[in-house]
Amino acid sequence: MAAQILDGKALSQQVREEVKVEVDKLVAQGVQPGLHVVLVGEDPASAIYVRNKGKACEKVGINGVTHKLPEETSEADLLALLNQLNSDPEVDGILVQLPLPKHISEEKVNAAMDPARDVDGFLPVNLGKLLIGRHGLVACTPAGIMRLIDASGIDYKGKRAVVIGRSVIVGKPTALLLMERHASISICHSRTHDLAQRAAEADILVAAIGRAKMIKGDWVKEGAVVIDVGMNRDEDGKLCGDVDFAEASEKAAWITPVPGGVGPMTIAYLLRNTVIACCARRGLPAPFVYR
Ligand code: NDP
Repeated sequence: MAAQILDGKALSQQVREEVKVEVDKLVAQGVQPGLHVVLVGEDPASAIYVRNKGKACEKVGINGVTHKLPEETSEADLLALLNQLNSDPEVDGILVQLPLPKHISEEKVNAAMDPARDVDGFLPVNLGKLLIGRHGLVACTPAGIMRLIDASGIDYKGKRAVVIGRSVIVGKPTALLLMERHASISICHSRTHDLAQRAAEADILVAAIGRAKMIKGDWVKEGAVVIDVGMNRDEDGKLCGDVDFAEASEKAAWITPVPGGVGPMTIAYLLRNTVIACCARRGLPAPFVYR
């Protein structure tokens, strides 16, 4: 039987509506959450992402500000801007769009950012909080992935979850969140032996690899929940995931499409994190009832 679709477009709309409710409450108290996005250089994909983030902010009432800096901006100037944003009381979230030009150290940029405003959830402090089970700002893609899995209705307890990909921004935090919900996790990567076999044992399979349609139908357990994080181009230049959707959906019970799966959730969770950061920074009660 064909899998049911975990519709990230619809679910992200729900998350945005939840965010808007909280923003409206804040605005009624005279507080408007502010998200500042810093874009250095002319990378066309980054420019599109940044524009989309700006539009998304506007729709929920967050004050989205973009700082566009030329490619040749010095590291010192970027760090100075971050310092200025760190001390501006109206700035609740700061996001530096990656990749940065080669002459700028990502490590130094991370070190210069206020963790309380790290709405991407990428800074060591926030990743460390996740590790010890105290949620700070949780990375947006992993948080969105969990919300998608939740929508399948699966009971995580004791289930086998396999995450393929061990990046700091997707694979590792997703595995931690799954473990926190009492799934038994395996993290696989490019050196994993018998990858297809490992994947085929998963009740929950998360693919965060960056290889077009690598996960075939026989890598998927009958009845599994399959989350496809990958954003790739296929041989015809069409956007596709890491999972061969046609094959995998014959086996899975639930599956995310690409596009329209994880992608829209990431941006919705960025908005959500901005509201969380806003309330935490300003000593207001924590918004949102569940993750
Ligand atoms: P990284 O390149 O940082 O990590 C990729 C991971 O996949 C690595 O751990 C790597 O292993 C593993 N890998 C690569 N090739 C293989 C292979 N042949 N077999 C098994 N494992 C392999 O990528 P990200 O985590 O940043 O992103 C992954 C994908 O998700 C990309 O397509 C990216 O575009 C997409 N993405 C989508 C987002 C969204 O919102 N939808 C957000 C972020 C990312 P090793 O560590 O051994 O090198």
